[in-house]
Amino acid sequence: MTDALLAGERVGLRADNGLIAELGPDVGPRPGDDHIDAAGAILVAPLINGHTHAAMTLFRGYGDDLPLMRWLQEKIWPVERRLEPEDVYWGTRLACLEMIRNGTARFWDMYWHPAASARAVQDAGMRATVAAPLIDVDGRTKEMRAAALQSLDELAAAEVAGERVDVSLAPHAIYTVSEDSLRWIAEVASERDLAVQIHLSETEQEVIDCLAVHGERPARYLDRVGLLTPRTVLSHGVWLDDDELELIASKGPVVVTNPVANLKLAVGAVFRYPRARSAGVQVGLGTDGPGSNNSLDLFSDMKVLALVQKHAAQDAAAIDALETWEIATGRRAPLLGAAPALEVGQPADLLLLRAGAPELSFGELPAALVYAASGAVVQTTVVAGRVLMRDGEIEGANEVLARALERARRLGLSPPLASAHADELA
Ligand SMILES: [Zn+2]
Repeated sequence: MTDALLAGERVGLRADNGLIAELGPDVGPRPGDDHIDAAGAILVAPLINGHTHAAMTLFRGYGDDLPLMRWLQEKIWPVERRLEPEDVYWGTRLACLEMIRNGTARFWDMYWHPAASARAVQDAGMRATVAAPLIDVDGRTKEMRAAALQSLDELAAAEVAGERVDVSLAPHAIYTVSEDSLRWIAEVASERDLAVQIHLSETEQEVIDCLAVHGERPARYLDRVGLLTPRTVLSHGVWLDDDELELIASKGPVVVTNPVANLKLAVGAVFRYPRARSAGVQVGLGTDGPGSNNSLDLFSDMKVLALVQKHAAQDAAAIDALETWEIATGRRAPLLGAAPALEVGQPADLLLLRAGAPELSFGELPAALVYAASGAVVQTTVVAGRVLMRDGEIEGANEVLARALERARRLGLSPPLASAHADELA
């Protein structure tokens, strides 16, 4: 790529074997190179989505505006029981389409049939950490552990794990997984050197119940069962108190905050980011699933993160634009897998942002990106040296849309234009 704007300077960049091979003002194409003329587009690092349930694109707009438990029990869980791997594959491909369009290169995923998600990630060209899920609150411990191990076997057999797809374990939450199984997950993760993803302290009720049942708060409990490690990703963390934040900082897990999903599901509080930062907690940003956000455009989550933090602290300086950008690009939480910088030898994961985008015309770039821009400013997305979106075009996008629609219809989910209220919008 030539004529890209990096830190105010016109540069060329050559990628080779998935890595940045050359970067600088004099770098040009060699014979046989696939050449992009960036024509003054802005070169930046891509975003990292630290928590999602990608295949839930199929559930987007289904049962919105219901309280959390009614939404799960009446809408989501009955359909999830009928899910097949092909549903998960096409739902994840649809999510990848949206994330590539909005400048996300890597995501951390928790969902059923993870081998199908992994295949989708591989085919879409993105990076992801997929997870063998576990829920055993219904007493089916033996069966669900066997299913988790089978998912790990399927992921190994599919040979999808490697350079771009990592495998992890995902016990859903402390209230849906038994204490025994949380300990078991900690053992399996340690034996196989796997990361663990878990929802933690999303609602106040979870804290109240944990205190009642276990006599301690959620992070203390998770530490006691062996799951507070530098390989753990904790999603939400809304209701963590000072002691828990200090504990998490000392044990090394990442907290991924999902401000949009938290607001939409009305969890009643805001992740205590300034306190987490002063304690030294590593922090990332997630969309959560498209069933509860409903967008996978991490640019909007970035803006909401900054705004809710300022609002909650009653301090417009509580978090600044550059810090927000660093959180959204994974640079405040190395476990999430971001490259430390755009430089020679690092993975060729990068974005070109439209040179003529009105949102990026004036002012400081971090402020423009966090407060003014949306994913629509992304023109080109490159992951591991492969051009996944070129000037707004993603190869195979129409097929992905059509196949995802077929799968959604099979599950009894309808596209927005078929909904009962569509004619009331005109
Ligand atoms: Zn979630």
